[in-house]
Amino acid sequence: MLAALSGGAWLLLPAGQAHAERLCVKWEIRTEDSGMGIQAGPNAGGTEDKYAGANAGATASALGVRVRISRPGWAQTYDTAPGSGCVDWSDSSWSGDYDVRVYGYQTDANDNVVRIHDSQSDSCAVAPGATYSLLIQDYTPSGGTDVMKVGDEIGRWTTQAMLGYGLYRYHDGVHDKTIHAGFDEGNGDGQCNSSAHDGTLNSFITSGRHCVQYSDCAADDDRRKKFLVGHEFGHALTALHYGDKAGATNGDEPGADSGWLGITDDNSCANSSVYDITDVEWSSIAFREGFAHFVSAKIFNDREKSASTGLYEGAFHWGGSHSQDLQRPNRGQVSASDNRYDDLCCASTSGCGTGTGVIGDWMRFLWDWYANEGFLGSCTQQPTKLNMLWLYTRTRQEGGLLRNNYFQKLQDGADAMNLPTCLEDGMLDIHAALNGVDQ
Ligand SMILES: [Zn+2]
Repeated sequence: MLAALSGGAWLLLPAGQAHAERLCVKWEIRTEDSGMGIQAGPNAGGTEDKYAGANAGATASALGVRVRISRPGWAQTYDTAPGSGCVDWSDSSWSGDYDVRVYGYQTDANDNVVRIHDSQSDSCAVAPGATYSLLIQDYTPSGGTDVMKVGDEIGRWTTQAMLGYGLYRYHDGVHDKTIHAGFDEGNGDGQCNSSAHDGTLNSFITSGRHCVQYSDCAADDDRRKKFLVGHEFGHALTALHYGDKAGATNGDEPGADSGWLGITDDNSCANSSVYDITDVEWSSIAFREGFAHFVSAKIFNDREKSASTGLYEGAFHWGGSHSQDLQRPNRGQVSASDNRYDDLCCASTSGCGTGTGVIGDWMRFLWDWYANEGFLGSCTQQPTKLNMLWLYTRTRQEGGLLRNNYFQKLQDGADAMNLPTCLEDGMLDIHAALNGVDQ
């Protein structure tokens, strides 16, 4: 938008006084959770589709990034195009020696914003902290298209780049929202957390904003974990989609209670005071964490069938040296026909079952329904990314949510969606049962 305005202005000037320039900004990033490979099963060694090689460093387009181009006596601020990461600009009084400030601030085609800032507070002010920026000096435009690479593989710029990519990949049906991302260095409480739920991080979703934090301590540095960056983004995106609907309320998912401690020691299903992908939890937590995982999984995977298995394969990394298989639990070590952590975790444990679920099972349930392999011959439709956001939203809109009834509420919420009946009922229930979340 800004580019079109300035472009129109220079066309009116006499020839020779205007220099049309094209600047494309790219992030230099380096992750630490990319391309880890699925451990076992028919998709062993498989990786995610996007930025799979980024642990060795990669270049990412800075889509919709804010830049300020200036020289003495002149300055203009632009957002690069959300599709290309480039901006066309001009200066009627040619200087040839400019400064460019690149901000940790990116927009998309729906006027949503993701930004990184320097506040460590877990309260979500209207605009917390100051936006991080980088200054590039002595820039002399070539007169054609210039590519400016910034970020130098620094952790916080990798976080920003993956947030911007997440927004580019997953924003249908979400408009005019802002996600503010801070970094927790342990100041104040001495702890480092990555979270979308601490303090008032999610207390303003009906006002169009959500804050998240990424842990940034020497002992716990999450800045380069792209799937974790996408996970907290997923919490914010789902909550913001729900938050602007009539009747929405701020704050946590009702009944979200991470205190289920039925299993204290199990081979693959350790339960502790915090939750992990293999934990049995109340369905409220499994629902919420499963959705955040799904959004992150979708950001870095395409929905495409594997030539070798005929399934909609994908990989998702969450701890350890291997990736989760979006089709099979336990990093592909259990077959798709026994497609649930639930069986591993609950085999010898009483109290496990009704009202509980495993976070990883919920992630694969959502992925399976989104991919819909078409087990019912005539039901070959697939939900859209926006349908998935509505599934989250409709569930919350059902009301009466308790810590242990989220699957039943999700079924009711799906019935309220305008989807083919076979997707709402048949396929939803089939994928839920296969993944062990129907309880
Ligand atoms: Zn989470």
